Amino acid sequence: MNNDFQKLFQYSKPVIIAGPCSAESEKQVLETAHQLKKHKNLIFRAGIWKPRTRPNSFEGVGEKGLKLLQLAKKETGFKTTTEVAKAAHVSLAIKHEVDILWIGARTTGNPFAIQEIAEALKGINIPVMVKNPINPELNLWIGAIERLKDAGIENIAAINRGFFAYENSKYRNTPQWQIAVDLKRKFPTIPIICDPSHISGKSNLIYEVAQKAMDLNYDGLMIETHIDPANALSDSQQQITPQKLDEILDNLVIRNFETDNKNFKASLNQLRIQIDDLDIELIDVLKRRMELVEKIGIHKKENKVTILQNKRWAEMLVKRSQYGKKNGLSEVFIQQLLKAIHQESIDKQNSIMNNNDEV
Ligand code: PEP
Ligand code: MN
Repeated sequence: MNNDFQKLFQYSKPVIIAGPCSAESEKQVLETAHQLKKHKNLIFRAGIWKPRTRPNSFEGVGEKGLKLLQLAKKETGFKTTTEVAKAAHVSLAIKHEVDILWIGARTTGNPFAIQEIAEALKGINIPVMVKNPINPELNLWIGAIERLKDAGIENIAAINRGFFAYENSKYRNTPQWQIAVDLKRKFPTIPIICDPSHISGKSNLIYEVAQKAMDLNYDGLMIETHIDPANALSDSQQQITPQKLDEILDNLVIRNFETDNKNFKASLNQLRIQIDDLDIELIDVLKRRMELVEKIGIHKKENKVTILQNKRWAEMLVKRSQYGKKNGLSEVFIQQLLKAIHQESIDKQNSIMNNNDEV
């Protein structure tokens, strides 16, 4: 199995992991699996123990769901995967021949639980997929992977299922692609899978998110698939039928990471040179801006004025967003950019006000 896992990611990119959010009944699990049968190499998923944010929601069928996964495996030949959140889940999943385990977002954020699972996995070496933690904390994701590696797990993949966002977003969980890029920098050989279902939260966004993942060279997709999404007992709005999954996969454009086309390489190089120059220009401008911020900090200190001037900040956000919009730059982008610059300016003024050495 272990070598197969690696081969899977090498040869059948994107690897497709599909199946219901939760196993609900024998009919639902088996019909879903059979309707997915035309996808060779598919990994069949189903949640058995469902960690829900609030109590009194459907919390999974428990151990008997493992029998359903086992049956689906026998009838279709699919490899199976389920979520484990504690040591007892690990031994039950293995007893029922689950091929690959996954660790859910709520568990990745909890080093106690991860350590318990890692201990239970010692000497077993089953492949494990690790979802990102709910909060955008890269080190928790890295830490979970490190604990599993330390326990001797050789085949680990990471899943980007999006991150909690307090501010309104079109996504249920914002993908924060950059965090996964940072994870890949730390573990360059780890396959990365995208879970468009939990990122989107609604079925009509899944194609767009899956395509974006392909454009970012993701290795696989985990997409929640249910024979009757409208009546699903969990995550009903984001689940899609096997037929809809076929449609999405048929329409995905899979791009190559590299090409031998010389003209393409030459023009890409030209454009990259220009981008490099513009980045340097941007940094030079930011440096000049920060020099002005320092001067303002000194004035404010001398005049005992507070750093944060709410009215000025609110005006800036509006005006810069309007100007950005006129120039084809989205409001969200301009606001994120300004917030980062503003935070740095506040930090700078803070150090000026509170550290006499700097003045
Ligand atoms: C799931 O995959 O059904 C699930 C519970 O996911 P997450 O841990 O990403 O919320
Ligand atoms: Mn789900």
